[in-house]
Amino acid sequence: MNLEPLNPDLIVMQNFQPIRLKDIYRARKRIAELAQRTPLIHSSALSERLGSAVYLKLENLQPTGSFKIRGAANAILALGPTEKSRGIIAFSTGNHGRAVAYVAGRLGIQAVICLSQRVPAYRVNAMQKLGAEVIQRGNSQDEAYGYALEIQEKRGLTMISPFDDPLVIAGQGTIALEIIEDLPDVTTVIVPVSGGGLISGIALALKSISPDVAVNGVSMDCAPAMYHSLKAGKPVEIEEKDSLADALLGGIGLDNRYTFAMVRDCVDRIHLVSEGEIAEAMFFCLTQQRLVIEGAGAVGVSAVLTDKIQDPGSATVIVLSGGNADVAALLQIANRLPMP
Ligand SMILES: *Cc1c(COP(=O)(O)O)cnc(C)c1O
Repeated sequence: MNLEPLNPDLIVMQNFQPIRLKDIYRARKRIAELAQRTPLIHSSALSERLGSAVYLKLENLQPTGSFKIRGAANAILALGPTEKSRGIIAFSTGNHGRAVAYVAGRLGIQAVICLSQRVPAYRVNAMQKLGAEVIQRGNSQDEAYGYALEIQEKRGLTMISPFDDPLVIAGQGTIALEIIEDLPDVTTVIVPVSGGGLISGIALALKSISPDVAVNGVSMDCAPAMYHSLKAGKPVEIEEKDSLADALLGGIGLDNRYTFAMVRDCVDRIHLVSEGEIAEAMFFCLTQQRLVIEGAGAVGVSAVLTDKIQDPGSATVIVLSGGNADVAALLQIANRLPMP
C-alpha cells in the first residue's frame, strides 16, 4: 500500500523553523564524541532486486545498536549544568531508553527510563545493565508516558523526548550528512517511520542540500500511527498491536509539535509492510548480508523486496535503523523460512 504523494507541491524546506540545516551541522559536532559515523555499504543482492544500485546505512553498528544515540546525545549534551545534576527521564519502546541510559552513563548523569509492560525483557535488561533506573508501567507507550510525566514532576527531572524535539530531530538528521558525503549522487533514501524523528531530520537535511532526492518512509501495516495521522490531516491515536517491528510501536502524540508537519511537508511517500514481509527482510539481512537487523530496522528492505519503490533513480540508500533483534525470534524466523 502506498500513500499518494504527501505533498505534490513539495516546498523545499531551506529554513524549516525552528530546525534549520545549520542545527544539524551543529549536532554533528556535538555528538561526535559519543555516536559513530556509520559505514555505507553497497548491497549486490538488493541492487539486483531493485534493478539499480542499493546501499545500506548501518545504524545497527552504533554503540547502543540503533541510531537513537544521535538524537539522545544531541539533546543531553545541550543540557545546562543544573539540569544535568538533577538527572533525566525518558519513556521508550526500548532503543531510545537504551540510548539515553548509555549517554547518561558516559556523562555521569542519573537516568530514569519508563517503559510499558509490552517492552520485551531483553530490552529492559540492556537498559538496566547500563545503570539506568528502569520502571515498567501500563500497557502502551501512552501509559508509560503518563507515568513518566508524574515522576518527572515529583523528582524535578528533565524529559528527553524520543522524537518530537528539535535537538533530537537534528541529531537524527546527521545521518543524512554522512549519506550525502559518502554518496553525493544519491537519488532515493528509504527510512523506517514511527514517531517520525528519524525521517524528519533526514528529510530536512536532504531536501535542503539536494532537493531532488526522494525520501520514502516505511511503517508496519498493523499500527502505522504516522500514516493514519497524515491521512486524517492531524495526529490520531491508534491501538497498539504486537509487531516484529516493536521499536516502531506507539503514537505520534496528539500534541505533536514538529514531526507531523515535517513528515507531511518534507517526505515524498509512506509505504506499509506486513509482518510476513518484515520477517522475510530480517531473514534476508541475516542470510544475504550477514547482518542481524531488528524488525523496525528491516522495513526498508521489506519495501524493496516487495517492489514498493518505483523509479528509484541510480542510487538508493536504505537506512538500517537498528540491530537489537530478539535473537530467539530471529532464530524462529530462520527455522521457518527456506534457506536460500
Ligand atoms: C525508534 C526507531 C525507529 C523509528 O524512529 P522514529 O524517529 O520514532 O520515527 C526506527 N527504527 C528503530 C530501530 C528505532 O529504534
